[in-house]
Amino acid sequence: MQATKKKEGRSMKDVKELREELLFGTSLLFQDLRDPWGHIAVRLPESDGRKGFMLKHVRVPPPPGDHEEIMTFDYEGNLLEGKRILPWELPIYTAIFKIRPDVDSVIHTHPKAATALSMAGKTVFAITHQSAQYGHGIPIFPGDMINSGVLGQGLAETLGSHCAALLKGHGAVAVGKSVGDAVQNTLYLEQAAQQQIWAATLGTPELLEDRLIDFHKNRPLGDGGLALWYTEMHYAKNK
Ligand SMILES: [Zn+2]
Repeated sequence: MQATKKKEGRSMKDVKELREELLFGTSLLFQDLRDPWGHIAVRLPESDGRKGFMLKHVRVPPPPGDHEEIMTFDYEGNLLEGKRILPWELPIYTAIFKIRPDVDSVIHTHPKAATALSMAGKTVFAITHQSAQYGHGIPIFPGDMINSGVLGQGLAETLGSHCAALLKGHGAVAVGKSVGDAVQNTLYLEQAAQQQIWAATLGTPELLEDRLIDFHKNRPLGDGGLALWYTEMHYAKNK
């Protein structure tokens, strides 16, 4: 895999590379979360010339549908390309992309353990180094199907500057500077939720020390989680 090209901190990957990331990312989400519902979206690169994002369903359409089909939308949710039925919860993506210029990728899933925590009025917080990004706890939004601009806006405002949020009794959203970053923020969200529940069977799960949370917030620039992403993509492509 060639090194990531960056301009002003933003990925300069082309549409073809981003499509591969969406395909790889959705397959990873299904392998790990064992649920076919959900999507990954990524902003179109500048080189495309259009303003908007590509979105891939985790699930695949029935035959003879193209299992690699990816839809393209503008930021108002108008379909620019693709022919699948529009995702019910498209406002998740249009609202978050509008309010978070710092993120290039948004993911919505229904992770089992993280959702269970929300049903008990609990949230996911930093419990390990891998979950340091969740800090003192991510926000929780009501569990509505996010199928209107008003709900999308409400969810985006609740998410604020966090890297993830829970939808009570429904699922989660996670964001990232790249597809790999958003996938990582989704998978470690579920991992942290499971670890919190395991720890709670033995005692009270403890928040990671602030000095360790700060270490991860301020760690030197590098690929970090992306390195993991590339390693996995490399092996997936070469097996
Ligand atoms: Zn949902």
